[in-house]
Amino acid sequence: MAIILDGKALSEKMMAELKNRVDALRAKGKTIGLSVILVGENPASQVYVRNKGKACEALGIRGDTILLPEQTTQEELEALIIKLNRDDGVDGILVQLPLPKHLDETKALRLIVPEKDVDGFHIENAGKLFTGQEGVAACTPKGILAMLKAWNVPLSGKEAVVIGRSNIVGKPVAMLLLNENCTVTICHSRTADLAAHTRRADILVAAVGKPRFVTADMVKPGAAVVDVGINRVDGKVVGDVDFESVEKVAGYISPVPGGVGKMTICMLMENVIEAAEKKVC
Ligand code: NDP
Repeated sequence: MAIILDGKALSEKMMAELKNRVDALRAKGKTIGLSVILVGENPASQVYVRNKGKACEALGIRGDTILLPEQTTQEELEALIIKLNRDDGVDGILVQLPLPKHLDETKALRLIVPEKDVDGFHIENAGKLFTGQEGVAACTPKGILAMLKAWNVPLSGKEAVVIGRSNIVGKPVAMLLLNENCTVTICHSRTADLAAHTRRADILVAAVGKPRFVTADMVKPGAAVVDVGINRVDGKVVGDVDFESVEKVAGYISPVPGGVGKMTICMLMENVIEAAEKKVC
């Protein structure tokens, strides 16, 4: 049976450490602020935003959620981002994705000043990650690495396979694994013979968005399997990995819920605190 990469337990431990950093800043007279912009009424986004608010509250970070109506224009959204960029009390700005279809996501994200881009989606932060410079790393990929390291999963020289090539998960996690000296393969919907790749993986990251997509026959015995997926099936949240079958083959496995999702929020909090610490120094 695989060892569980328990994101819930790890994130609770890390949150306690983050609380100390918030308290240390407060002792210097610095309060921390995160502004989250939510456009429209996407139910999943509402849950994510609520969870981010709760995490802020637990740490003593001021979390402002700015709710904008579905029909918000690009100009209105951009004016708000510019205002928050200029607001000294705001250390981090997050635009909850996806935005309604009529809005230009890329343009909006580019407008956030890179120092306040706590999601790590700004082209400058993405570029820094790809060129090995210090910047803000995207929260989910950063959380995945933190989890693998916490359980001492060997990375250097190992075969890592990432299923998914999105800008927010697949590509940045591949880059972080490459920076750890893994030999990385990125797979996607046009990959021929996906299982031939996944069966070679010592570390397998599934970021597909398809319920229970990765099955035991696709996994190398002893591999570390990280499940990023959040899929709703019959009112239940399930991952991209068929947990029941894969846990019998894998060496490590992250559950859904209680895995990567918890780590993502924790890393967001870390990025906000780091942004505030940089301002104080
Ligand atoms: P995207 O939809 O942007 O990307 C999915 C990727 O999977 C694409 O690259 C796509 O390939 C690939 N893919 C789709 N079908 C197949 C297939 N049959 N074989 C191989 N590859 C395939 O999703 P995201 O990266 O944004 O998210 C992935 C999952 O992770 C979702 O379930 C999402 O909800 C979840 N998520 C969870 C987070 C967390 O905190 N736990 C944070 C962010 C996302 P192609 O590019 O060719 O289309």
